[in-house]
Amino acid sequence: MYQILATEGKAKRARLETVHGTIQTPVFMNVGTAAAIKGAVATTDLQEIGTQVELSNTYHLHVRPGDKVVKQLGGLHKFMNWDKPILTDSGGFQVFSLAGLRKIKEEGVYFNSHVDGRKIFMGPEESMQIQSNLASTIAMAFDECPSSVAERDYVRKSVERTTRWLKRCKTEMARLNNLPDTINQHQMLFGINQGAIYEDIRIEHAQQIAELDLDGYAVGGLAVGESHEEMYHILDEVVPYLPQNKPTYLMGVGTPANILEGVERGIDFFDCVYPSRNGRHGHVYTNHGKLNLFNAKYELDDQPIEEGCQCPACRHYSRAYIRHLLKAKEMLGMRLCVLHNLYFYNHMMEEIRDAIEKGQFKEYKAKKLAGFEETT
Ligand SMILES: [Zn+2]
Repeated sequence: MYQILATEGKAKRARLETVHGTIQTPVFMNVGTAAAIKGAVATTDLQEIGTQVELSNTYHLHVRPGDKVVKQLGGLHKFMNWDKPILTDSGGFQVFSLAGLRKIKEEGVYFNSHVDGRKIFMGPEESMQIQSNLASTIAMAFDECPSSVAERDYVRKSVERTTRWLKRCKTEMARLNNLPDTINQHQMLFGINQGAIYEDIRIEHAQQIAELDLDGYAVGGLAVGESHEEMYHILDEVVPYLPQNKPTYLMGVGTPANILEGVERGIDFFDCVYPSRNGRHGHVYTNHGKLNLFNAKYELDDQPIEEGCQCPACRHYSRAYIRHLLKAKEMLGMRLCVLHNLYFYNHMMEEIRDAIEKGQFKEYKAKKLAGFEETT
């Protein structure tokens, strides 16, 4: 059940009721690829940094430890000790970007595991079965994500196949949700809009998938090499054709600035590896731009990463100490940076929700963007 609570222009402040609790949107999902957020962050930490939704990767968990193992252990929630919403991607993106030697057929994709090279087949039904075994809150449809520089003819054919795959996903998900031994019989399904940078193909595809009455709709295949302007343009064109009474999800995006632009264009859900990946390299976000804690100027800096930040790193430790940990390759250095960055993103989403409720999102966005431009 999705309910819009407030709007400002196209920006939406909404909530989505799920079997694992309510998701307040706009929301940033925290990426835990192999059922853990990289940087030694445990699910017990997530409460402290304001995480609402954890995102795990179907492909990675299918390869290792295996979705059947996770099912035997009671599903992903029990396995990783997290009782709030989890979204699993479909595996499609990883199959197309990570796996070696692959062959795309109408039935699905044949490829080799990037871990041990063994042959795997994944189609819409297999992806739904894996996600049902993982028992996530929200499952993503199995799609092909064509390259942003793919030829128009290829993209058209690919998108037509993605629509046929989506119908198969919907049928299979309905069947699985009715089986007695399915862990989460209320698993939701989000469809994915594709079409690379061809707006007419994307709009036509959005209209087709809108008719399928899914639980939510994602815009996929962006942030894969096109410019930010191209991405914003596609959102301007496509989001109005996705059902307004369903949540929208911009996959794999992005920087704090990208998120503010996405929210303004009507996006509810975001996810990105940036905060954890940057944190592991000592790059931390602040309201006055990004800092590189390896920089010599922080050697004697006893301030927190950001004054006033309520994250576990800033409440207790200085830039100088975290810099020392990073230089000494102590795992704690990485961990503190990742906790700060995820808190920064999660807290920004909270501010965004508050700003939309108050009808002040436009001012908030302008102020935030001006801050990010400052050099520190
Ligand atoms: Zn902090």
